[in-house]
Amino acid sequence: MIAENLQRIRAEIAAAARRVNRNPEEITLVAVSKLFPVELILEAVDAGQTVFGENYIQEAATKKRQLPEGVHLHFIGHLQSNKARLATETCDMIETVDSLKLATALNNHLTKLGRRMRVLLQVNIGKELQKSGVDAAEAEQLLRQMQPLKQLQMCGLMTIPPLSTEAEASRPYFRDLRLLATSLAARGLFPEMDRPHLSMGMSDDFPVAIEEGATIVRVGTAIFGRRQ
Ligand SMILES: *Cc1c(COP(=O)(O)O)cnc(C)c1O
Repeated sequence: MIAENLQRIRAEIAAAARRVNRNPEEITLVAVSKLFPVELILEAVDAGQTVFGENYIQEAATKKRQLPEGVHLHFIGHLQSNKARLATETCDMIETVDSLKLATALNNHLTKLGRRMRVLLQVNIGKELQKSGVDAAEAEQLLRQMQPLKQLQMCGLMTIPPLSTEAEASRPYFRDLRLLATSLAARGLFPEMDRPHLSMGMSDDFPVAIEEGATIVRVGTAIFGRRQ
């Protein structure tokens, strides 16, 4: 079941990429495994999936210990600074950096570990009151403040657009994130990247996100089924 879902989603990723003359290989599928048991992750690993997304740091750490080498976790939930240490020990990428306080805490722990880590800045592109992430207008300032934090490799932007039942409703938000990333890149704010990453698109709208330039899509339900 999971193997078939993964095969179908990889085919849909490739089809969406081809529609806009992109190389499907530049798109990373993050299988969002939050609230699903490690057995299902292992089933996906058997089907060739290596990157998983987790929202809760304690859950991610517990799962990480039961997973084979070569399985990578992206943290995609809201991260509090006091959980930064566990996150640096557990994850390969934090997609949800949205404050200088969190970035500094991550940088401090990474300094102790002698490691660097890839991170994304989470942008609240729809300006929703309840949602995490910085406003688009604040992204540049935060990226500038983060420049001295040398253990963080700032790789790009991540967003969750306003919830909708229509995939096409997400398109303007995805486009806005791409334009924002392009403008920040032109100002030298992703110095280590030829092109910044764009993490956008979930089960209901990832093909639209790919058409708008997503390099990372985060798909849960369409792979693992409904969460309890
Ligand atoms: C849960 C979650 C997803 C996956 O959502 P699905 O609709 O199940 O594909 C993607 N991104 C984030 C940030 C999430 O919290």
